[in-house]
Amino acid sequence: MKSTKIFIVIASLVFGVVFGSGLYLTHLRHNSLHDQQNQLVAEIGHSQASALQGQLSSSLATTYILAQEVIRTNGEFPEFEKYADSVLNSLSGVSNLQLAPQGIVSQIYPLAGNEKAIGHNILVDDKRRVDALLAIREKQLTLAGPFELIQGGVAVIGRNPVFIEMDGRDQFWGFTSALIFLDDLLSITELTKLEQKGYSYRLSRIDPYTGQIDAFGQSEAALTEPYQTQSINVPNGLWTLALSQPDQFSPIPGYLISFIIAMTLSILLFMILLQPQKLRTTVEEKTQELKHQAFHDQLTGLGNRYLLYEQLNFTIGNAVRNGTSASLLCLDLDDFKRINDTMGHEMGDLLLQKMTKRFQQSLRKNDILARIGGDEFAILLLDTKSVSHVQKFTNKLIELIRQPVVLRNSEVTVSASIGISMIPENGKDANILLRNADVALYDAKRKGKNQSAFFESAMQETAMRHLQVEQDLRQSLNHHDLFLVYQPIVNLRTQKVIGFEALIRWQHPQQGLVLPDQFIPVAETTGLVIPLGYYVMQEACRLIKKREELGLEPVSIAINLSPQQFSDSKLLTRIQELLSETKIRPELLEIEITETSIMDNIDTAIATLTELRGMGLSVALDDFGTGHSSLSQLKILPVDTLKIDRSFINGIEGDDSDRSIVEAILVLSSKLKLNVVAEGIETAEQLTILEVNNCPFGQGYLFDRPLSEESMLERITDLSSAWPSHHSPAC
Ligand code: C2E
Ligand code: CA
Ligand code: CA
Repeated sequence: MKSTKIFIVIASLVFGVVFGSGLYLTHLRHNSLHDQQNQLVAEIGHSQASALQGQLSSSLATTYILAQEVIRTNGEFPEFEKYADSVLNSLSGVSNLQLAPQGIVSQIYPLAGNEKAIGHNILVDDKRRVDALLAIREKQLTLAGPFELIQGGVAVIGRNPVFIEMDGRDQFWGFTSALIFLDDLLSITELTKLEQKGYSYRLSRIDPYTGQIDAFGQSEAALTEPYQTQSINVPNGLWTLALSQPDQFSPIPGYLISFIIAMTLSILLFMILLQPQKLRTTVEEKTQELKHQAFHDQLTGLGNRYLLYEQLNFTIGNAVRNGTSASLLCLDLDDFKRINDTMGHEMGDLLLQKMTKRFQQSLRKNDILARIGGDEFAILLLDTKSVSHVQKFTNKLIELIRQPVVLRNSEVTVSASIGISMIPENGKDANILLRNADVALYDAKRKGKNQSAFFESAMQETAMRHLQVEQDLRQSLNHHDLFLVYQPIVNLRTQKVIGFEALIRWQHPQQGLVLPDQFIPVAETTGLVIPLGYYVMQEACRLIKKREELGLEPVSIAINLSPQQFSDSKLLTRIQELLSETKIRPELLEIEITETSIMDNIDTAIATLTELRGMGLSVALDDFGTGHSSLSQLKILPVDTLKIDRSFINGIEGDDSDRSIVEAILVLSSKLKLNVVAEGIETAEQLTILEVNNCPFGQGYLFDRPLSEESMLERITDLSSAWPSHHSPAC
């Protein structure tokens, strides 16, 4: 602000100096033009005066010519009129010529209009006498007037005294006179023309009688100052021609131009001076912007991890000082990667934005929301009253997230897992609090997602163990410590092995054989399950091929597909590649998926399943009955087989509800023409009940435990000779 004032002062000074100089220069220039104009007027005046004088002399010359003739004719002048006529014709400007012997006008040529003057005695006329006597005394031509003539008009009269020599002496004879009208005299000058061009003039003389200035000829417009004067010498007097021209050159345009230049310059200067200030403001704005960018997320506009750290530290400080409590929630969208992969990043971004809005709506004014990773958000709840209060909030949030979201034209349902750490109980440092909330989040994910977990110190241990498993598994994937075992699936009616389920095993370098329950959940939370799954697929195909090459009975092999892999965008291409590489019959490869794979996004799931079946593969719905899918949904699912979960088979003997569920599934699937495999048959009693209820297929330790590759290749498929049930088959 202060510098702006200084700039205004500088610009004003520049204005003053430039404008002042402009005024001065305009003034100088105006003066010089004025001088030039005066000079020009003087020159014109001079030429006009000369012309007047010349004309007057030539007109007055007529009186000398007449005088000569008077002298030659010895005062007789017999043919005055003829003579005067020829003189008037040869010398212009004279109105009439007169002879006045002894001062009495006796002849005038031309006479018409001048008759009144005949007999006029000049020497006795008061007004003329002085001039006349002067002329006689001086023996010189005198000029009388200008004066108003009796017969009208303004004229001058030149009187030439004529002396004739008589007896050796000059005797005064009289006057030869010429009357010259002033208008005639002026007409030979350019004064009228000049008047039309705007000049003013005045012709004057000093009246010899009164001594006053007598202006006898002038323009209509009066003279303006300054005017130029020229003297015209006339016989026995001096005329003055004054000429003026109004000022041609106004200084106003010059002043105006000076003002405009000064104004423009000072404004320009002001703007130039402001530039650095503007630059400084821009830099400051940019710096603010960069600062904002450094602490905010572009996509959602929320604060980022760094801002959260600051706010977290501030909250911790507050909580410790004032004995208040707060809580930190780490929220992660479940299977966000799947949305990104299947629907594209643009949709993924849109989902994040829509979710942000939902979170914001559920928060109180002072609570803080931040985006701390791709699909990871943090919520800082201030002034938390109790754990149950946080739990209530979290449950509501989870429910809110589960509401379907419309992304352009499609509707998706997502879920989120939330890990919570309490402030200050679970840490007095931002890093520790975040880590603990992360551990709790991990636990929530591990327990099946779409839920929340409060941090407990025991979780830390589990998290560490999982981390270890993850590291080891990563290495084992490279070192081929994983292998498959195969459990037969039996046709309960024909008592023949119709296929095998491939089950993964891990030969851990230190811990020995590890079962899938120990590492599949870790693989699922870390994404390792995808490369692992493709390895299983490859192995299964290799074995189908091997059985074919060995000429063994063709049986199907079922592989388990984790939900992540099922929604992997590359799934279909990878299977297609494998099929064309190994050239196995596609119907021998079966895919087992669980309900969770389908329910998240049922439309996409149906599309994928349809594609898989289109390729010739068959699809089984694994662990059926444990999930949330209703029996009625089965109608729309493109699956071939249902695998009744082991837990129902386990309870089939003693638990009536388990038994009725199994019976219902069997009735319904036969109506829907679905195959059913009863999983985990361990006893002959279980088998009998299933047989009685027309269960078509079974699998379990009663027939076989999972077999190694060699045992599987050697397995006799016909089991009828050692059929374990008490029941005789229907056929
Ligand atoms: P699942 O798909 O339900 O597989 C059947 C599990 O039941 C197998 O355990 C099998 O050994 C066990 N089983 C079969 N018959 C009986 C029985 O009569 N009694 C008892 N108590 N158990 C029986 P396993 O091999 O430990 O696999 C456990 C789970 O790990 C599988 O359940 C499956 O969900 C997962 N899994 C196994 N292999 C893979 C794999 O290659 N990929 C994926 N994504 N998951 C796999
Ligand atoms: Ca299975
Ligand atoms: Ca199963």
